[in-house]
Amino acid sequence: MGKMHLNVGTIGHVDHGKTTLTSAITKVMAALHGGRARSLEQIDSAPEERMRGITINLAHVEYESMTRHYAHIDCPGHADYVKNMITGASQMDGAIVLVDGSQGAQEQTREHVLLARQVGVKHVVVFVNKTDIADPELLELVVLEVQDLLAAHGYEGSPIIKGSALQAIQAVDEGQHDDARTAAIRELVHAMDTHFPDPQRDFAAPFLLPIEDVFTIEGRGTVVTGRVDRGILPVGATVEIIGLTDEGKPRVVVVTGIQSFHKDRPEARAGENVGLLLRGVKRDEVVRGQVVSIPGSIRPHIEGEAELYILTAKEGGRHTPFGTGYMPQFFFGTTDVTGMIDVPGDIAQPGDHTRVSFRLQHAIAVEPGMRFSLREGKKTVGAGVVLTVR
Ligand code: GDP
Ligand code: MG
Repeated sequence: MGKMHLNVGTIGHVDHGKTTLTSAITKVMAALHGGRARSLEQIDSAPEERMRGITINLAHVEYESMTRHYAHIDCPGHADYVKNMITGASQMDGAIVLVDGSQGAQEQTREHVLLARQVGVKHVVVFVNKTDIADPELLELVVLEVQDLLAAHGYEGSPIIKGSALQAIQAVDEGQHDDARTAAIRELVHAMDTHFPDPQRDFAAPFLLPIEDVFTIEGRGTVVTGRVDRGILPVGATVEIIGLTDEGKPRVVVVTGIQSFHKDRPEARAGENVGLLLRGVKRDEVVRGQVVSIPGSIRPHIEGEAELYILTAKEGGRHTPFGTGYMPQFFFGTTDVTGMIDVPGDIAQPGDHTRVSFRLQHAIAVEPGMRFSLREGKKTVGAGVVLTVR
């Protein structure tokens, strides 16, 4: 069996050493387990990417531990981290929080840890960097302060490793990849190997399928297709069709057939692209953007709160700010619906990220953690992640 693959990334305040640490990890792991060592310059010259119309500067590097393959994201600037986390450009299975041991946690450290929690990063490990220049007593205070920060966001008990990324790089560059200067990097990767669990397709959760398409199979009936988000559904199961048109009660139907790649299947499983044959449903009674779920497992919602990033004019977004009452289109996966935004306090400017309330014109199956984009006509003006629903 191949090594398990995980997506990870560095987060933390500017100039605390995120890129230096990223380079150090690739160098030490390349020396130990093969793969490519990356210099700081290579990481910092990463090309920009576009996600939901937003420009994000992020470097993807790869390395292997004894047991795993990691894809690691490092961003050059604070705004890129914010955009990356809100758009979910890299869905991190775990994050490395980097803190400069000579300075302690700073504003962006706190902001990134909060964002990580909000967007559903379940696990973090901490690297307290620059031990070569940090006062040892101050270092202990920094560790205590970091523990408080972790606990405040539900990350208590996360491993904290102290070291110097810069010295680790120097060691490898001198051909000494296994001396004391790289011990902290090896310890950090070991903490990732053990503290970040293997990602799992969620087979145990209640079945959920966002409908992407609807069509008719002659002589059999109406089929809805899409990728199973989670859970397992056997043929013959009773499901609900939720969202958009169900102002009253969701429609309850029986799935009489399941197909994948044109073959009949006994069940539909998380991660699979499937077609579900729905008993007694006419083609015009279901639409793209609804979801198929286990009765009672998910409710349609109209209102909630979200963390929003507002695109700048340069990114193709608005030139002007907006305030409460703004009504763009919300695109949730396969669903689009008009909604109203309530900006707490004052106005939201292009380039800002802010927590807002929203109210949709139709109830849809939204849940905390779901991503969406905001559009006006054909223009993407924002990206968000749902924090709460009511
Ligand atoms: P980033 O903005 O968080 O990606 O930070 P960088 O990796 O670009 O590092 C910022 C500065 O901190 C650079 O001048 C690095 O050389 C320096 N730096 C990084 N790690 C260490 C370290 O372990 N010790 C010392 N003394 N300096 C470091
Ligand atoms: Mg950097």
